[in-house]
Amino acid sequence: MIVVEAKRRQKKSTISEKLQSNDVFYKHIVESTPEAVVIHSEGKILYVNQAAVTLIGAKNTKDLIDQSVMRFIHKDSLPLIQSRIKNLLNKNKIAPFVEEKFVRLNGDIIFAETKAVPVTINGKMAIVAILRDITQRKKIEEKQNFLVQVSSILGESVEYKATLHTICKLLVPYLADYIRIALFTDDKNIEEVAAYHIDHKKLSLVKKLYETYKDRVDITHGVPQVVRSGKAEIIKRVTPQYLKKSKSSPEIKKIVNKLGLVSYMGVPLKIKNQVIGVITISSTRKERIYTKEDLQFAEEIAGRVAFAVENALLFNNLQKELQEKIKAQEGEERLASYLDQTFDAILLWEYSGKLVYWNKGAEELYGYTKEEAVGEQIHPFLKTVHPIPFSQIESILNEKGRWEGELIHTTKEGKPITVSCKKVLFTEKDGKQYVLETNRDMTERSQYQKHLQFLSESGKILSSSLGYKTTLKNIAMLAVPHIADWCTVDIKTEKGIEQLAVAHVDPNKVKWAKELNKKDPPDPNAQTGVPNVIRTGKSEYYPKITDEMLTQAAKNKKQLALLRELMFSSIMIIPIRVNDETIGAITFVYAKSKRFYTKSDLTIAEELAVRAGLAIENAQLYRDARRAVNLRDEFISLASHELKTPITSLKMYAQSLSKQFEKRNDIFMQGYFIKMDQQIDRLALLVSDLLNVSKIQHGNLEFDWKSVDLNSVIKETVDMLQIVTRQHKIILRGKIEKTVRADPYRIYQVLTNLLTNATKYSPQADKVMINLSEKKGYAEITVQDFGIGIEPDEQKKIFGQYYRVNQSEKKFTGLGMGLFISHEIIERHGGEMKVKSVKGKGSQFSFTLPFILSIPKADK
Ligand code: ADP
Repeated sequence: MIVVEAKRRQKKSTISEKLQSNDVFYKHIVESTPEAVVIHSEGKILYVNQAAVTLIGAKNTKDLIDQSVMRFIHKDSLPLIQSRIKNLLNKNKIAPFVEEKFVRLNGDIIFAETKAVPVTINGKMAIVAILRDITQRKKIEEKQNFLVQVSSILGESVEYKATLHTICKLLVPYLADYIRIALFTDDKNIEEVAAYHIDHKKLSLVKKLYETYKDRVDITHGVPQVVRSGKAEIIKRVTPQYLKKSKSSPEIKKIVNKLGLVSYMGVPLKIKNQVIGVITISSTRKERIYTKEDLQFAEEIAGRVAFAVENALLFNNLQKELQEKIKAQEGEERLASYLDQTFDAILLWEYSGKLVYWNKGAEELYGYTKEEAVGEQIHPFLKTVHPIPFSQIESILNEKGRWEGELIHTTKEGKPITVSCKKVLFTEKDGKQYVLETNRDMTERSQYQKHLQFLSESGKILSSSLGYKTTLKNIAMLAVPHIADWCTVDIKTEKGIEQLAVAHVDPNKVKWAKELNKKDPPDPNAQTGVPNVIRTGKSEYYPKITDEMLTQAAKNKKQLALLRELMFSSIMIIPIRVNDETIGAITFVYAKSKRFYTKSDLTIAEELAVRAGLAIENAQLYRDARRAVNLRDEFISLASHELKTPITSLKMYAQSLSKQFEKRNDIFMQGYFIKMDQQIDRLALLVSDLLNVSKIQHGNLEFDWKSVDLNSVIKETVDMLQIVTRQHKIILRGKIEKTVRADPYRIYQVLTNLLTNATKYSPQADKVMINLSEKKGYAEITVQDFGIGIEPDEQKKIFGQYYRVNQSEKKFTGLGMGLFISHEIIERHGGEMKVKSVKGKGSQFSFTLPFILSIPKADK
């Protein structure tokens, strides 16, 4: 064993010695090995084999000898290699294979697995490095890694637009310097979804380039071409010559130049052979010239992008569908809740009559729950009474698809109700026919109409000027049987609560109820009922009276029995308010009729109470006002009567004194007494006016009828007035030949009034005209002045009692009685009094008096 081993060792050593001594042999091996061998010492290359020359991209060995080793090491690998060299030299150990990056002469990066061995050459430490080119493998690995990355990004989200943007960022600068992804929209337009440029300032140029060429039909490359052909395209080198050849427009050339486009690839995005978009990939670097492999790689990426887009679209569609479904469901629910909320009863039945839908309105109207109704045959179930034979309704439905009319249905309680019905016939997707029926309770509507009628009737009663007690009694009568079987009105008096009115459907009960009330009057401090409503001013509303309630309310067994006998079903007690004070209450009771008050009844009842209160308030006000007016009138009439006697004696004294002084030739004193007499006349006139007004009101203004010659009466009056009128000349024109039947004193009164006003209200004027004329059947007397005039809207009012035009300066004194009395006098004569006036210019008062047809001569 030892011998064999010794022999083997000996053999090996001889071979190695031989080999070692044969440099040529070594050299041959090193030269021909496919692995790159580089020997370097002190940082400089001593030797390179042919494989190393190829690897580095040099032409021959001479290009590399004496060059710095570090120049070819990629900066990423520099630290590792440096430390390895150190170790090698210090420890004299072989460094095992590791992956390192190197840079070729042309700048390309190469990957190599390296092993290094320390040697001594000519006494100097050197390193023999053996490099195995793994660039291809690395590139494939890298591409695969990249694709994995792309896929994982694409798979991350269904927000494909955002994802494609991330993909663009990943591809720049790895595969491109700028990139653009465009997709077809639903309306077959191509839309940019993502674009990226390594220099973001140039992104707008990328977009601009596309915008410039997209619509050109003659364009040889780019998105439209890829879409047309459905095939990937490549322009390895975009040279000026190439651009010239491709007939690109000057504008496109300009943009391409600005972008510095060097190499280009356009790849379609396809789903099941259908182009859904395009990725355009561009290089601006001379060292990046796209190759066929790059195009393949781009297609590989495009395939994944298309797949992801398809997934996203599918997902989004699914999502949309789902959302629509949810929406539809929500809509259905909303519709259902709407259907439930509506007051109408909504039913859906199969053409055969089987009920399939029943809303809340139907539950309320008919009293049957959904569960009870659905599945039933509609007509027997609701005991439908059709206005025309059902077969006719059916044929109308089939012909027109709808029918409208009134039906009679029977509720669960057995109560027949009239409904206004709308039927619609429709066919579902499954071919099944359905009838949708909407029914509205007409009983409700007729009830409402009854209410309205009741209110308007009560309005009439309330506005008739009856005493409020009668009014309230009438209201109670009206309420029965419209809105009550029993209605009472109670009012607050000093003695307590007094029942003012009772109305009952059964008149016999009225007496009985009155007696009951007398025997057992309500406790004014009761916490419920009429006393409470009057005290609090708040309505009490008991829509449904239960036996329990009666038991609680009854004072004793006897009363309970009585209450039960009354058969109350529903009660409302409403306060009556007058001037913010509750003066009483109206009680509405449903008993035997088994009706129940609803909220709308309560509203009607409260409305009625408000109106009753207002009517009482108005009646009170009216009564108060009337009383005041009567008092005033009485006082005026009394006062004027009382004043008349002293004025008459005063006048007599004044006149006799005036005569006395005349006799004594005391003109001075006589003058005073004449003035005094005139003032007494004015006073007498005022008093007589006051008395006249009062007489007119009581309809006892007396007339002393005579056949009157107006000419002389008017002339006398004018003459008399002219004596006391200094400023104005009274000009009398015209004549009236015919006589009239009149009271000359009253005519004198009228004329005095008109002429006095004419002079009083024309202080700047110097004349007053009076014109007499005969018209057909009547005489017309006109008094015209040139004074202040009267506004048109005042003209209608001046004939009213005590009416005076409001003069802010209060220049003119008066009491507003003259025209009222004059107007009345003329009317009593069968004539008419009118005014025509222009503010600031003057007024024209005229009156007519009818002629007597034949005047007996003796009378004249
Ligand atoms: P009074 O005592 O106030 O004059 P009248 O009944 O005679 O009462 O007149 C009523 C109102 O009509 C007067 O206050 C006055 O404003 C207006 N009026 C009457 N006559 C004339 C007139 N000729 N010109 C302007 N206003 C007049």
